[in-house]
Amino acid sequence: MIDILSLKRQEALKDHCGVFGIYAPGEEVSKITYFALHSLQHRGQESAGIAVSDGGKLRSIRNLGLVTSVFNENNLNKLKGYIAIGHNRYSTTGGNTKNNIQPVIISSRGKVFAASHNGNIVNALELSKKLGNQKRISTSDTEVLVHTINKAKGMKWSEKIMNAAPLFQGAYSIVACSKKRLYAFRDPWGIRPLVIGRLNGYYAVASETCALETIGARYIRDVNPGEVIEVGKKGFRVLGYIAKPNRKFCLFEYVYLARPDSIFNQQLVHEVRTRSGQILAKEAPVKADLVAAVPDSGTSAAIGFARALGIPFGEVLIKNRYIGRTFIQPEQHIREQGVKIKFNPMRKIIEGKRIVIVDDSIVRGTTMKKIVEVLRKCGIAEIHLRITSPPIRWPCYYGVDTPDKKQFIANGKTVSQIKKYIGADSLHYLSLSGLIEASRQDKNNLCHACFSGEYPVKVNTNFRKNVFESNC
Ligand code: SF4
Repeated sequence: MIDILSLKRQEALKDHCGVFGIYAPGEEVSKITYFALHSLQHRGQESAGIAVSDGGKLRSIRNLGLVTSVFNENNLNKLKGYIAIGHNRYSTTGGNTKNNIQPVIISSRGKVFAASHNGNIVNALELSKKLGNQKRISTSDTEVLVHTINKAKGMKWSEKIMNAAPLFQGAYSIVACSKKRLYAFRDPWGIRPLVIGRLNGYYAVASETCALETIGARYIRDVNPGEVIEVGKKGFRVLGYIAKPNRKFCLFEYVYLARPDSIFNQQLVHEVRTRSGQILAKEAPVKADLVAAVPDSGTSAAIGFARALGIPFGEVLIKNRYIGRTFIQPEQHIREQGVKIKFNPMRKIIEGKRIVIVDDSIVRGTTMKKIVEVLRKCGIAEIHLRITSPPIRWPCYYGVDTPDKKQFIANGKTVSQIKKYIGADSLHYLSLSGLIEASRQDKNNLCHACFSGEYPVKVNTNFRKNVFESNC
């Protein structure tokens, strides 16, 4: 028995945050938000929060832990109102503190504003200096964003948002609310996703369409890059655009971050992953007895790979699905104290076989090395690795927690050297052009910086020394 799942979670590029918002008089918005956040749990497992306004008062519940541990029937019943926003958080380098839990809420002179953020404001430090001695309780860039909005010109929140948003650099998909209105806006590059749905005549906004499906809402469209939306008593309206849209959607959402049943830019994530596997099979075919995935992120691609080469697809590594997520804490020493998660290879199936293992990406290489070691001990004849993304060589500054550049296995190593380190019989990565082809997006409309080093939004390379955490 090996602890590969735990290793994989530690090594993988971390999911980022999940956001949700709804304006629905007469509906139980706190419970709807709870179910939406539950379906977005993969985007952040360290804390969860919901804020609800009844038009006069805004109440919130925010705590560390999974959605199911933070909320219960009792506390959700106390969140009465008709506007709700919610957030699932994955913290980055600074660890996991209560003060950074979202939604961020500020109140000033009888006015209240709450915001849930997915992304990373790369100029948070500069913006923070402009706030002067404004009191803050967290180390989060979202709090800087909210105070910057509050200080911006305008009597109404809609005016303040329109005036402040052009100051923000980086990735931000925001769902916010005042006492009487719901807002949603997205950076002009549209790096992180944000979609709009309709439920019983009302509107909801979410990070992924899977959340809309879960609550029974119908997906209408994406919030366009740079678009600012308001929902209130008079219905839905587009307030305007922060800047001319220049779409650079995160390619890694398709590879790993999103749930396979979500749709981005008209493409079902599962189908993108399946096509990735098919294209990789053409780029790097192999003779084998069985194709398998590292559960669960490589499964769609492994199916595509197997289908393309006419090789049976099967499971060789079995995950215990009933163990709680004890590995969610970000700090290494806490993770080491966590209960080990079991992930068992099926010796009877593996013995004497030539097997292809398909996975979405390799970050540090330690997990894959461990997998190969374990499979070799089970008597595997040949082990061929196929990775459905190009080598990751560059850090992400737009809301995905990546290690330092030097920790990437692909940094300064050839594919052949990586293969040798991992101990596989062969190793091939999908080309960047192959991955873009699988996504059916125009290359110019995508961010692929972690593979190519071509950053669409200028980043100060000292950014990581900033005191601000991304969210996330
Ligand atoms: S650098 Fe990679 S993970 Fe970050 S936004 Fe761009 S494609 Fe996504």
